[in-house]
Amino acid sequence: MNQQTSESARIPARLVKPKPRITPHLADPSGPNASFSWDQAQAHLSGLPGGGLNIAYEAVDRHVADGRGTREAIRWIGKTGARRSLSYAELAEATSRFANALQALGVMPGERVFVLMGRLPELYIAVLGALKAGCVVTPLFSAFGPEPIATRCEMGDARLLVTTPELYQRKVAGLRERLPGLRHVLLVGDATAEGPGVQRWHELVDAASPVFSTTATDAETMSLLHFTSGTTGRPKGAVHVHGAVLAHWATGHYALDLHSDAQESDVYWCTADPGWVTGTSYGIIAPLVCGVVNVVVEAEFDAASWYEVLERERVSVWYTAPTAIRMMMKLGTEALRGRDLSALRFMASVGEPLNPEAVVWGLEAFGLPFHDNWWQTETGGIMIANFAAMDIKPGSMGKPLPGITAAIGSRDAEGHVSLVEQPDVQGELLLKTPWPSMMRGYLNEDARYRKCFSEGWYFTGDLARRDVEGYYWFVGRADDVIKSSGHLIGPFEVESALIEHPAVAEAGVIGVPDPTAGEVVKAFVALKPGFEPSEALMRELLGHARKRLGAAVAPKSIEFRIDLPKTRSGKIMRRLLKARELGLPEGDLSTLENDEKK
Ligand code: AMP
Repeated sequence: MNQQTSESARIPARLVKPKPRITPHLADPSGPNASFSWDQAQAHLSGLPGGGLNIAYEAVDRHVADGRGTREAIRWIGKTGARRSLSYAELAEATSRFANALQALGVMPGERVFVLMGRLPELYIAVLGALKAGCVVTPLFSAFGPEPIATRCEMGDARLLVTTPELYQRKVAGLRERLPGLRHVLLVGDATAEGPGVQRWHELVDAASPVFSTTATDAETMSLLHFTSGTTGRPKGAVHVHGAVLAHWATGHYALDLHSDAQESDVYWCTADPGWVTGTSYGIIAPLVCGVVNVVVEAEFDAASWYEVLERERVSVWYTAPTAIRMMMKLGTEALRGRDLSALRFMASVGEPLNPEAVVWGLEAFGLPFHDNWWQTETGGIMIANFAAMDIKPGSMGKPLPGITAAIGSRDAEGHVSLVEQPDVQGELLLKTPWPSMMRGYLNEDARYRKCFSEGWYFTGDLARRDVEGYYWFVGRADDVIKSSGHLIGPFEVESALIEHPAVAEAGVIGVPDPTAGEVVKAFVALKPGFEPSEALMRELLGHARKRLGAAVAPKSIEFRIDLPKTRSGKIMRRLLKARELGLPEGDLSTLENDEKK
């Protein structure tokens, strides 16, 4: 028996999983039913006392108003073992202080507050406090290099940045001339740094009043601006609104099955960084809206210490990602032996394809399978999921959430949509508009936004199929964006950084499969006359890209080419670079202008 056969024999088409310990919110094993409506779900939110809707009020203050202020909201575990626990009442006060500090600085509702830091308590306070103040929040990934930070701050017109002195010095100080609109910088931590508008968080925020009346936003007021990558051009700023909080509640309730009642109160841990959308929607908003304990771990991935967190904190619901799961699989189950993980009752995964092996491994290692779910920055919340009561078909993303209609389809050049009715036919994954957390635009790029929609359907850019029982299966991306360790990377952003180097004439960037990270970034580079390929130049280019882009985005390898395949209109054919790299069929080459096969 070869490896493949023995592996597939281990993977059942349908997973028999233990009966859920508590009755799931969505108890029907066949999945969501038709009785859900977004209008009715609204009753689970309170709205602002004077009318309107605000994410931070729903996540924090309304629990206090409802007498649940003493419950633990955020349980922070620092890198060095320090701990900080904030009840909902304490979080309400801390976020009010921050909102008052913004007001004192003259940062107005609608203006943009950016956060760039690791998973420190102040990040959570700043995000929620800025939302309370009616400001728009943009989280940036702290592993970004100066270039992605500058591009996003420029595009988003950042007015205030919350960061640490170390990150400020290393990544932002040198950019200030490019960012005249960035009037204030708040530094978190004991060290300090100098610069225009730079102040210390502790001096300003700690001194502010803990009482703040939430700004009267409504469901259509802009709340978050999340940058995401496309195939061409600069990153896209996906505009989200306060009304998205209804989807955060519904998905936390149904897809993550969060419970916060007398019988069961969940301790929930989302391992995603708030620099990416999962870490905001599900690392900050959804758990708090659902009233559970939100565990925040500052340290980066390390299997042994993650198991320690699961055991010591008695985590009951765990939301993580395929790259981390694959890293744990590599290490085996030895480190789990003897651990008491009896509190754990539901595990979910998102962000990249979850290998069927990983689902089954979860069952072997933790006694529970990982429940894959699917969504993207533009959808604002989980759209397709394996629910707690449902049988899992390993490899499938599950079924659409209550209130969400998905389909497989395509559109012609005029934008007429054809839906695929038959099962098991591949096409683009479509979602019927609208839903509460749907993006409301790409910042200042209306044409790019409108291109995502046709005849009432949102085109996700993902290819998928639906089986006869209504389970959705991910097939791949319809475009050239790269998913590495769960992070979406735009090839254009990487190519642009490479061609800034004096030796580089052209660059083409693709994702190549990697057993752990899903994909890693690979660049093909054609040099300018007078430069010769060499090991030293390759290292220099890798270093240049790392410095400009940061480790999370920079290529892991570079290959020199005399020329890169291009269309007649001069576009680099990444598709062809990828097909050749992977030994796949080259497809239609009718638009290929030049062809230097190597
Ligand atoms: P982002 O906007 O950064 O959250 O990335 C969204 C993209 O990640 C989707 O369009 C998919 O290509 C991919 N993705 C997210 N979840 C899954 C999943 N469960 N399976 C496969 N791909 C996924």
